[in-house]
Amino acid sequence: MTFYSEIKNSLLDLEGKSLKRSPLTISSSQNAEILINGLPYVCFCSNNYLGLANHSSISSSAISALQSFGFGSSSSRLVSGTMDLHRSLEERICRFLGFDRSLLFSSGYCANIGTIQSLFDSSDVIFSDRLNHASIIDGCRLSRSRLFIYDHLDISQLRSLLSQNRCFGKKALVVTESVFSMNGDIAPLKDLRSLCYDFDAALMVDEAHSLGVFGPRGTGLCLSSDVDCDIFIGTFSKAFGCFGAFVSSSNEVISLIENRARSFVFSTSPPVSFAAAAISSIDLVESSDTLRSRLFFLSSRLRRSLTDLGYRLIEGSSPIIPVLFGDPKAVIDFSSALFERGFFVQGIRPPSVPVGSSRLRIIPIATHTDRHIESLIDSFRSLYPLYSAI
Ligand SMILES: *Cc1c(COP(=O)(O)O)cnc(C)c1O
Repeated sequence: MTFYSEIKNSLLDLEGKSLKRSPLTISSSQNAEILINGLPYVCFCSNNYLGLANHSSISSSAISALQSFGFGSSSSRLVSGTMDLHRSLEERICRFLGFDRSLLFSSGYCANIGTIQSLFDSSDVIFSDRLNHASIIDGCRLSRSRLFIYDHLDISQLRSLLSQNRCFGKKALVVTESVFSMNGDIAPLKDLRSLCYDFDAALMVDEAHSLGVFGPRGTGLCLSSDVDCDIFIGTFSKAFGCFGAFVSSSNEVISLIENRARSFVFSTSPPVSFAAAAISSIDLVESSDTLRSRLFFLSSRLRRSLTDLGYRLIEGSSPIIPVLFGDPKAVIDFSSALFERGFFVQGIRPPSVPVGSSRLRIIPIATHTDRHIESLIDSFRSLYPLYSAI
C-alpha cells in the first residue's frame, strides 16, 4: 500500500540525513548517575537542573495524595475534574510568583498552545523570536493571527516590525522564552517590556528553563529583573523535577484562557498526585538557594574548561552549554564517543535546532560531584582531535 511505502521512504530519508532518532531506555531514577542497559552513566543532558526528579519529599507527597484521592481525575476541569489539590497548587503558584491567578495544564506544550490560541485570533498580530520553542510556534499557528518572526534576540528588528505592522492587529503580542532552551542565551526582557509599552502589545514570557534556576527563591528572570510580563508560562517538568505546567496572569486573562483554551477545555485534568508533588517541589525550590549556587558553579566551570580546550560554545550565562558541531553526523559520533567513556550527552539536531547548527547540549545537575565534572572535562580533552577534524 502507498501509505506504508511512503512512511518507509520518510524514515529512510531521515536515516540518510543522520536525523533519525530513537531514545535510549533508562532503567534507574533520573539523577546525575543513571542506568542504561544495566550499566552506569553520568547524565549531562537532562533538564533536571536541581536534581529534584527523584527527591523523596516530592515522591512522598505524591504517594500520600494517591492514597487519599486515587489516581484518576475523571474528566476535564470544567466538567467534574477540578479537585481541591488543583486549586491549592494554583494558589501556591500565585503566592510563589505574585500573580492574581494561575491555571494548570498537563504540560508546557499544552500551556503554550492553549494560551496563545485562546487569547489571540485572526484580527490580532503576534511577534515571535525566531528560536522560540515549538509549542509557542504551534500556538501562534493555531491562533491564526498574523505572525511576524524577528531574528533571535534582535530588538532593533523587532522595533521596526512593530512600527510597520502593529497597526494590522486589534491586539498585539510579543512572545519570547527567557532562557532559550537550545541556546542557553537570555532574552533582553527589559527592552522587550519597553517596546511592548511603546506599541501597546502584551508581553508573554515562557520561563520553562529559568523558573527554579534563576533569581532568589528560583522565581525566574522576569521577577528577578523586575520585568512585569502580562502572560507568564512556567513548567514543573524541568528544575522542579515533576510534571505539568501553568500560565499565570490577571484574573480576567486566566478566565478567558479557562473558557477557550482547547488543550485545557478538551483534556482530562492531570492527576492530583501530580499537584501534590508540584506543591512540595515549589517548597523545595523556594526554601534554599544552595542547589542553584551549586548548579551555576558547575556550569561556569564547565563553560570555562571547554572554551579553554578549544571547543566552540554558544555564549551565555545559563546552565545550558551548547557545543557547536554543525553537521548532525559529527555530533552523533562525538556523542557516541562520550557514551563509550560513560557519559550520556545527547546530540541535538534539526528540527530541534536550525539546519547546520547541530550541537551537544550539556546541562550539569546540582547533584553532580566534582569528580563527575572533572572526568567529563578529561574526556573532552582526549576527544579534541575528533572535534578539530570536523
Ligand atoms: C520544555 C519546554 C516546554 C514544554 O514543557 P513540557 O512541560 O515539557 O511540555 C515549553 N517551552 C519551553 C521553552 C520548553 O523548553
